[in-house]
Parts: sequence; C-alpha cells; structure tokens
Amino acid sequence: MKVIDISMTISPDMEMYPGEPGPVITRISMLESGDLYNVSQLTLGTHTGTHVDPPLHFIEGGAGIDDMPLDMLVGPARVVDLSHIKGNIAPGDLGDAKLDEIILFKGARGGARLTAAAAQYLVDNGIKTVGTDALSIGAAGEEYEVHHTLLGAGIAVVEGLVLSDVDAGGYLFVCLPLKVEHGDGGPARAVLIQE
Ligand SMILES: [Zn+2]
Repeated sequence: MKVIDISMTISPDMEMYPGEPGPVITRISMLESGDLYNVSQLTLGTHTGTHVDPPLHFIEGGAGIDDMPLDMLVGPARVVDLSHIKGNIAPGDLGDAKLDEIILFKGARGGARLTAAAAQYLVDNGIKTVGTDALSIGAAGEEYEVHHTLLGAGIAVVEGLVLSDVDAGGYLFVCLPLKVEHGDGGPARAVLIQE
C-alpha cells in the first residue's frame, strides 16, 4: 500500500488565493528560551492551502464543515489529468472522463478551473465530490456561479490539491478537514492510497 500526500504545506510564504491573508505561525513557548517545550500559535484563514468548501461557504444557512458527512471525503476516487487543456475546463473536456462519485481534476499551470457549464455538467452526472489542484475551482469571472452550482447541489468541493506528481487513475481518497464549528471552510490533510 502506497500513501501519496496531496496536501499543500502550511507556511507563511505559501501561495494564497489573491486577497487572502497567509498563515501566521508564532512560537509562544520555546526550548531555546528556556521553556520546557516548543508550542506555536497558528493563525490561518478557513480556505488556506488544501481545503474543503462546505455549502455554508456560499449558501446562507447551509451545512458547515463540522456538519459535512465524512463519507463525502473518504472513498474511491479517480484522478483525471486535464493538464493538456490550457484554458478553463468546459463540459466537452470532461466528455471522456469517467465520472465517479469522487473525481479529482489535475490541470495545467495554476490548476484545473471549471466553467459554470462544466460545474452544471458534474451536477447533472450525479457526482458527490469534486477536487481540483487550483486554489479556486471556478474560472475567473465564473467563481460565484461555479461554487453556487456545486455547493447548492450538495457537492463537496476540495481545492488546493497537489497533484503534479500524481498519475491519472483510481485511488482511495482520504481528506479530513479541521472540524471548525460552523466553519465556512476547512483546511485539510488529503492523501491518495494506492493498493
Ligand atoms: Zn475554498
């Protein structure tokens, strides 16, 4: 069994979605100052790095990250390589893709970003979870509609996956977001398991 880490590393200089503050990691107790142990305080946004978007991210009164069923984030998944597509992902690009319940898109530089029509295509095909290696799953200018379409249909969205060294194919996906009360997002550790 091989475990492949597909999570971004949390660090102050990590890549963030434009306008979002990066993590702040502050040592509040340190061995080198004579304290008995090292402990840090970590401040980060709910959509930092690899993370899950629950319905509450875009839907008022929707389920928060603490209410998301974990079986949406653990199970057989398929990685689909779309890195040959230079622009945004349209429904036609997904034509050959075998739609499984959990589908993870690997895009070109900057990651796989869906048009609103592609998001609707996924809803129409009954998938339960979609992941991307982009920091936002929506194409620029269509982010609101893409999130609304996916989250409104109850689809879990995972953003910021690290898929550059992952081949297309079937895996067991395990993604566990932090259980933040009424959280509108949850930073997560995500892995693929290959038997
Ligand atoms: Zn997000």
